[in-house]
Amino acid sequence: MKKFLFVILIILSSAECFTQKKNQVIVTASKLKEWVSYLASDEMRGRANGSDEMKTAAYWIAGKFSENGVKPAYPDSGFIQNYTLTSRRQSVKERNVIGIIEGTDPLLKDQYIVLSAHFDHTGIRLGLKPDSINNGADDNAAGTCTLIGIARTINISGIKPGRSIVLAAFSGEEYGMKGSRYFVSNPPVPLKEIYADLNFEMTGHSEFLGKNKYYMTGCLYSNLDDLIEEYNKGTGFQLVDTLAVANMLFNSSDNIAFSRVSSSDGTITGIPSGTFATSATPEYLHNVTDEAELFDFDNMAELISYFSDLVIWLSNSRSDVVWTDPAFSSIK
Ligand SMILES: [Zn+2]
Repeated sequence: MKKFLFVILIILSSAECFTQKKNQVIVTASKLKEWVSYLASDEMRGRANGSDEMKTAAYWIAGKFSENGVKPAYPDSGFIQNYTLTSRRQSVKERNVIGIIEGTDPLLKDQYIVLSAHFDHTGIRLGLKPDSINNGADDNAAGTCTLIGIARTINISGIKPGRSIVLAAFSGEEYGMKGSRYFVSNPPVPLKEIYADLNFEMTGHSEFLGKNKYYMTGCLYSNLDDLIEEYNKGTGFQLVDTLAVANMLFNSSDNIAFSRVSSSDGTITGIPSGTFATSATPEYLHNVTDEAELFDFDNMAELISYFSDLVIWLSNSRSDVVWTDPAFSSIK
């Protein structure tokens, strides 16, 4: 991976003072198994956009946010951001689930770190075996439960973030990131105050990279990965930054809605973002074999604990997250 020395020098000078490397697992493997198995159960029928099951899933996520100390983002509709999802095939009512954990640093709390994950999947495709339901366990009940797990860990640990945190569970991803695109067009907080978007996908498997390892899509484009790699020293966790697939997949999830925000004058600006994942296995992706039983829930629990600490650390960082690739320009 190519690095940008000047950026690293800036980071090294400022990233040291807020280190909290404790990694205590609060959300257990069995709790995660319960959550993922529910979202990826046959009764959810593959969480197709526009379905009754997507509505059920959205309110289940809202309930989990609520019971874990997350505040609703909308005064009138609570956690629910309603929109109409229009694709080539159909026009359906859909909803994102959005909550906020308020920051406590007087200088930083009006800035936001967005943690996002999509909870829709591809529904039922008749004729497949062993059944026709694309349960979407890794894609993306896993990322959705990672969001909930981070909220629960922060809530139970009692550690308050410096910057505020927006938790965003998106629908419509499988039809072209429709939910996240609607969110950035109708944001509950000012876009220019969003520090970065950390998007989670496919965090349930460990056999692709090994335990306590993950990759981040788009790590060539911003200094977000450099900041994280600085944090990672001494944690036992590793951002694997040598995968070609990591940059190929940059355009394949909701992070891209943040990175490619169009401003009102038509120029492309953007919020630094990346998708965090542990696998990229075509064997499971959009396949009926993507089932919860195949997960390494112990590894997922460790990762959620780590990501929770990382998010708290980032929420207190005095370093800016900036684009390092000239193809992107900052919204700020
Ligand atoms: Zn996905």
